[in-house]
Amino acid sequence: MVKQTIQIFARVKPPVRKQQQGIYSIDEDEKLTSSLEIILPRDLADGFVNNKRESYNFKFQRIFDQDANQETIFENIAKPVAESVLAGYNGTIFAYGQTGSGKTFTITGGAERYSDRGIIPRTLSYIFEQLQKDSSKIYTTHISYLEIYNECGYDLLDPRHEASSLEDLPKVTILEDPEQNIHLRNLSLHQATTEEEALNLLFLGDTNRMIAETPMNQASTRSHCIFTIHLSSKEPGSATVRHAKLHLVDLAGSERVAKTGVGGQLLTEAKYINLSLHYLEQVIIALSEKHRSHIPYRNSMMTSVLRDSLGGNCMTTMIATLSLEKRNIDESISTCRFAQRVALIKNEAVLNEEIDPRLMIIRLQKEIQELKDELAIVTGERRTEALTEAELLQLEKLITSFLEDQDPESRLEVGADMRKIHHCFHHLKKLLNEKKILGNSIVSSESKDQDCQEPLKEEEYKKLRDILKQRDNEISILSEKMRNFPSTGMRGEMSLGRQEAFEIFKRDHADSITIDDNKQILKQRFSEAKALGESINEARRKIGKQMPLWISENMAVPSMPDLQEERLRSQLEEEKRRYKTMFTRLKALKVEIEHLQLLMDKAKVKLQKEFEAWWAEEASNLQVKPPAVNSLNHMKPFPQTSESQHDQSQFLFNKSGQVPQIPSPQCECQDLGVGSDMYARKILPSPCPSPRSQEQSRTSTPLGNSTPERPVSSVPLTGDSQTDSDILAFIKARQNILQKKCNNSSTQKVRGFHFYS
Ligand code: ADP
Ligand code: MG
Repeated sequence: MVKQTIQIFARVKPPVRKQQQGIYSIDEDEKLTSSLEIILPRDLADGFVNNKRESYNFKFQRIFDQDANQETIFENIAKPVAESVLAGYNGTIFAYGQTGSGKTFTITGGAERYSDRGIIPRTLSYIFEQLQKDSSKIYTTHISYLEIYNECGYDLLDPRHEASSLEDLPKVTILEDPEQNIHLRNLSLHQATTEEEALNLLFLGDTNRMIAETPMNQASTRSHCIFTIHLSSKEPGSATVRHAKLHLVDLAGSERVAKTGVGGQLLTEAKYINLSLHYLEQVIIALSEKHRSHIPYRNSMMTSVLRDSLGGNCMTTMIATLSLEKRNIDESISTCRFAQRVALIKNEAVLNEEIDPRLMIIRLQKEIQELKDELAIVTGERRTEALTEAELLQLEKLITSFLEDQDPESRLEVGADMRKIHHCFHHLKKLLNEKKILGNSIVSSESKDQDCQEPLKEEEYKKLRDILKQRDNEISILSEKMRNFPSTGMRGEMSLGRQEAFEIFKRDHADSITIDDNKQILKQRFSEAKALGESINEARRKIGKQMPLWISENMAVPSMPDLQEERLRSQLEEEKRRYKTMFTRLKALKVEIEHLQLLMDKAKVKLQKEFEAWWAEEASNLQVKPPAVNSLNHMKPFPQTSESQHDQSQFLFNKSGQVPQIPSPQCECQDLGVGSDMYARKILPSPCPSPRSQEQSRTSTPLGNSTPERPVSSVPLTGDSQTDSDILAFIKARQNILQKKCNNSSTQKVRGFHFYS
């Protein structure tokens, strides 16, 4: 890559008349940069230049004065560019200046003398000379000649040009590809194999331009001409081609609308006559300013065509043509100012290399042929394009036997024939794809089977879930019963005295031992059932967790590793087994508990009945023989006595007399009091006993409705029959107990009997 600013040169045209020559001087410093000083004549300075500055200085790469001949210009300006083009870089030389300043003379040359040949013929001559000299490369040269007039492009080499006016010709248009490369449609490219052919093309184009020019259409001053040499080069045998373009540009006159004598108007404010040049200046300004992201190339055809030349992949040179006659001083100053801006533009020229696909094909074809020949020599047989039917059949047989061979070391031997090897791979791929399709159908049928099985599994799961639910219910019933075990409030319904009497009766009853024992067993069974219930719940929870997991994994990942599946399955099975065992035990417990409950119920009813009988009897006895506190000893003892030291026996009984499904051993006999009260009401005195009624009650039956006779007692009574009855029952029970305590020799035997019976 060659980074370079646009090179600017100045060429001063000899004046038509010596006396009209303006004052200027050219200096060359140590660094070989030239500076041009233009002295503005006083009369002019007073006129249009406001700042009254008399001297203007401009730096150029080099300034060629009036006496510089065409040869010098070519040697110093064009030749270096031509050399770059020959090396493969793009190049541009453009002449900029007012009309008559010598642009055409510099680019094309004078029409009269051979020595006045300009840059184009000299460059063509030089290039063809170089091409002839260089036999290491193959060069191809094409010429195009474009005229841009009034923003329209015309092909100056169009064969129909001679017969038409400029406007009638097909217009050259710009096309931009996705890579933003510019292509010119309708611009013909003419191959020139020799300098002569190329020069003929130049003259053809110039002639066409001249013909098209009319007084109304001063093409020569208002149009731009771009003569382009397209040079391609490649080394023999290589597919890499280098392309380079050299634009030799003769621009339209740069003169502006504002002319000399317009007082107070700055030079910079003057407008170009030619719009294309205005846009060219816009592009130059944009390019010369740093950090400008948008360059308005598209604004005009000329800037579009010269896009690469301005700030792009090109080595560009500008020649500022100056006519330093007094009347042209202002335009010359403008031209120099423009050149100073252009000098700031940096270009990056790169080698334009590309691989020619046609050349590549030719090279590869050649290589293939060589390899084929080589192979034929090695194998001793010349291979045709395709395998024969017999060969294909043979290969397929080989593949089949290879695939069927169980030996892991078996090989598929087809020989060193790439066609056969490729065919084997294709065939294997085909088989594999077929198997895939088949496999998919198998998988889908398997999944169908699974679908069939899945409802079963789901059903099984549902069944298990239902069982679990049922068991849960049972467990919760058990738990509920457990919770209700310590009940309260029973005693509130029985009068305290009667209650205490019942407690004593119950305690001393022989059956109380059985009841106690049963209660203890029941307690144990209940705790066992409770623990079992918890274990069952745990097992159920585990199953509930594992089951969906197992099902989902079986459904979602049929190819789940067997190990993991097996583990899950066995865990599930284990939990199910545990659950079953525990449930069987719980069921047995339930039966046992129910049985115990029934036994207790029975004992309870019996006790109840006996107590009531005793209570009634005692009440009647009290009525018959008014008891004295100390005479209670003769009272009939409890039907069956027991030396029970625990007086905590409690019974289960409900109002309706029904036995609960699962009894609670700790349950207090809530309803016993009701029953007792019912009896009590029958036997106890009326709430408000009068002395007379008390008298009457002495003769009445114990269970009769008559008010019992007021007992003769040292114990102070309340007058309330029920309370008094309770007090008496209490006294009696206490005495009875005291008596029993003194004489209880047989109770141990009774208890032992009951316990073991
Ligand atoms: P432009 O193309 O800029 O309008 P031309 O190249 O046509 O100007 O030049 C105008 C006239 O000046 C022509 O007749 C040309 O021969 C002559 N001329 C221009 N430059 C020189 C020069 N350096 N030496 C001699 N004659 C010149
Ligand atoms: Mg000209």
